[in-house]
This record gives sequence, structure tokens and C-alpha cells, in this order.
Amino acid sequence: MKYLILFLIIFLSGCIQLDTWENGIISYRLKEFTEEEEIKIRMAMDEWESVANITFTIEGQVGLTIKKSSSVNASTTGSGCYPFCLMRLKTTGHRIILHELGHTLGLIHEHCRMDRDDYIHIIWENIKEKEKHNFIQRKGLLNIYDFPYDYVSIMHYRSVYIFSKNMQPTIDFLGHIRVHPDGLTEEDKRKIKFLYPYTEE
Ligand SMILES: [Zn+2]
Repeated sequence: MKYLILFLIIFLSGCIQLDTWENGIISYRLKEFTEEEEIKIRMAMDEWESVANITFTIEGQVGLTIKKSSSVNASTTGSGCYPFCLMRLKTTGHRIILHELGHTLGLIHEHCRMDRDDYIHIIWENIKEKEKHNFIQRKGLLNIYDFPYDYVSIMHYRSVYIFSKNMQPTIDFLGHIRVHPDGLTEEDKRKIKFLYPYTEE
């Protein structure tokens, strides 16, 4: 029991701290996916790796476990939970995997930035109770003044009805027209380069 409590204290306090992965190296294991799904996950990893000093590897002590889920797409944020960082994937659409890997790398939801109320309006009364945490504002690892608000970031929810409990909108984009790219935006790339810069030779 004593060890269980100690374990929980270490685990929870570790998860609270938002941090990047040392040297951009993330040792991962995949669990319960088909070969086809594993290829899709690797493709999304390749896309993040191609823009910053990031290495997803199956070598070394496992820091991130990626598990097939029957219920959610979700991930711990950053390396703070190491060695128990967990990503769960219900679906394996490219954008979804990119989004969850973004959390793993340390990015918060774009629509949770401290300045988001200047750009969108969250309609709290329409959001399912158990999903409200997905809209809570928080300070991320980046200074918001260095990065303009990105409506089409891979870390921004797209649907105005996301997590609606009553078929009514949960996000009002205040008339902003959005054209989403297939993958990462230039701002997503700039952010991750800032967090994982290439080291000078
Ligand atoms: Zn998310």
C-alpha cells in the first residue's frame, strides 16, 4: 500500500509538469494495432520528425506506450509522465494521429490558449460535462505572443459541434473562414521547431 501511494504521488506529480522530451528522443511501443495501423502511426511520426529535432524510436527504455482503444483518442501531454506516458487511439486517421502525437510532444490545444477568447467563443452550456476539460485554458510551453493564433492548427478542434451534448455548436469561430491543410500548418512546424531545435554542429 505504501508503495502504491508513493507510486501514485510520483506519477501524478510527474504528469502535472509540462515538459519536452530530452534531446527530442521518444522511445515508444505500440500495442494491439494491426500492421496497417502501425504503418499509419509511423507515417504521422515521420511527418513530425521531418520538421524538427525529434526521433521516435523503438530502442531504449520505453517512455511512451501507444495503445489501441475502444473508446477514445487521447494522450498525455509532454514528457512529464515519463516513463508512463500513454497515448490511446480509437481511430487512425492521419490528422488524429498527428494531433495526439502533438500532445505527446508537449503541445496543448490551440483553442485552450490563454488568449483564445480574443479569437473564438466557447459555448460551455452545449458541451458534454465529461468533455469540458478539453476546453479549459492553460499555459503551454510556448509564449503566445510569439505565435499568432492558428485557427487551422493540427491542435485546434475543427468541428463547431465537437463534444456537443445537444446537437448545438460548442465553438463559435466568430465568422472566421477556415481552410484546413491535410497535415501540419506552418505555425505547427514553427512551434515544434522552437521546442525541438536542431543543435548546432
Ligand atoms: Zn487533443
